[in-house]
Amino acid sequence: METYLPAALAFVFALIVDQLRRKNKGLERQLQDLEGKLQAVQVKKPTSQPSASSVSPLPQPLAKRFDTATGLPTRESFLERVGKQLKQESETDNTTSALILMKLDGFRTVRDGLGEKKAEELLMALGHAMPVAFGANSALGRLSEDEFAILVRGLTNPDQAAELGATFRDQLSAGFSLPQVDRKIGLTATLGVAPWTPQYQKTEDWMADADSALGEAQNLGAGRLSFYSNTMHMRSVERWRMEGDLRTAIDQNILQMHFQPIVHLPTGQPAGFEALVRWMDPIHGFVSPADFIPVAEKSGLIGPIGELALRQSCAALSAYRKLFPDANLFMSINLSPIQLQEPGLTSMVRAILAQSGVPAQSIKLEITETAMAAEAEKAKDVLQDLRHLGVSLSLDDFGTGYSSMAYLDSFPVSTLKIDRSFITEIAEDEGKKEIVRAILQLAQGLNLEVIGEGVETSKQKEALSSLGCNYGQGWLFGKALPADEVPAWLKENQMGLHAK
Ligand code: C2E
Ligand code: MG
Ligand code: MG
Repeated sequence: METYLPAALAFVFALIVDQLRRKNKGLERQLQDLEGKLQAVQVKKPTSQPSASSVSPLPQPLAKRFDTATGLPTRESFLERVGKQLKQESETDNTTSALILMKLDGFRTVRDGLGEKKAEELLMALGHAMPVAFGANSALGRLSEDEFAILVRGLTNPDQAAELGATFRDQLSAGFSLPQVDRKIGLTATLGVAPWTPQYQKTEDWMADADSALGEAQNLGAGRLSFYSNTMHMRSVERWRMEGDLRTAIDQNILQMHFQPIVHLPTGQPAGFEALVRWMDPIHGFVSPADFIPVAEKSGLIGPIGELALRQSCAALSAYRKLFPDANLFMSINLSPIQLQEPGLTSMVRAILAQSGVPAQSIKLEITETAMAAEAEKAKDVLQDLRHLGVSLSLDDFGTGYSSMAYLDSFPVSTLKIDRSFITEIAEDEGKKEIVRAILQLAQGLNLEVIGEGVETSKQKEALSSLGCNYGQGWLFGKALPADEVPAWLKENQMGLHAK
């Protein structure tokens, strides 16, 4: 028999498995054996690799179970396999298993660099290498374009899973030979490992922990491997709890926008505000947006939070502009990169602007420099649409990200907000002062406004002013105020802030 089992034959096996399953549920064990055999045959090294084009499209039920590009089981069939393993785990006690999630770092770039055809060949090579590397005792799956999963069974120690993962990662970076390519094509992969524990009742729980381990590995950097740990468990429980509380807080209208003054430095006049969301939880007290915004971004709650931020901020600005018509106040509102991916963003902004009656020109949307560098290309159209509405765009925490200089010229940004870390030491540290000077020169050349963030002392304000920065924001001028305290603050300071 051919040592290489063509993808089509694998699908026939799968079809038989499906039919058997339907006939008799009691045959479950036999089915698993069959699937084991199927994988064992796949493990044998192919004598020749099929070209990507030789694989014909699959009939529907098979396409659902096997990924055409790699020949590996799909997410759906992999998850089914994990579910079965969970049922079995409780019965066996001398061996254990572990889940590995593996993400190919920068696969899109590799794909773009190689071109579609070669990328398909690379995936096919990967699909052949994985069963060989992880052995017949493992189940494999392709979860998304660049994410793979491995269920390693029969382990006497969970560390063995990490060893297998690390060895395969090294094999990937050593590279694959592709037809008509004179060099090997290497890949970097980041891995998260979650050993089985009796606490796992559901597939999702085990997958979520493997995902946390992968997230931890990604935080450490490309090509890293992390084990799921108790600390991660505590963190994910905490995140899960926070997500529930945040949902309740949104439903009960507990989140409120507060407004921090932004001051025109040459005159000391209030120029506008930055809207900052505040969560005073009845049980946990004040929760910082720096803690809950990332949770909201991961759980889909950033949508409703973003909407309430826009609504409350535009309504407040409308009231302040009526009370102080000569001040020409603006409002700066933070926008999460996740919001940029939501299809209805521009129409929501348009509707809220119309409802509140504030001119679009009085609204600045803040996007962090890091998010901009990561999303700019994908979000180009949305950013242009927003700009066409008349709102302006601000680059937040400027100076902390990298590589966005290139975007400054081609993206519709009108304001830079220099990060607090530069302002804090501007009066003492010549280096920081020089960076601020350079940013101001760059901004002048590109005709951008600049706001210095986190001004806490008069010395910092003076240093910033002397370099020619027009706007400042920070505790020296005021902390973020509840909406109803802003009019009194404006009244007190409308003649110009003579800060202490
Ligand atoms: P950010 O947009 O850079 O906001 C500035 C942060 O610096 C705010 O922290 C503000 O209270 C703080 N700050 C202002 N002046 C000073 C100062 O003089 N000294 C010091 N030490 N801190 C100062 P906050 O309110 O905790 O917000 C943290 C981050 O959370 C914000 O950073 C922003 O990225 C995010 N965030 C806040 N509100 C929203 C929102 O409505 N939507 C989204 N997507 N993100 C938000
Ligand atoms: Mg901001
Ligand atoms: Mg900032």
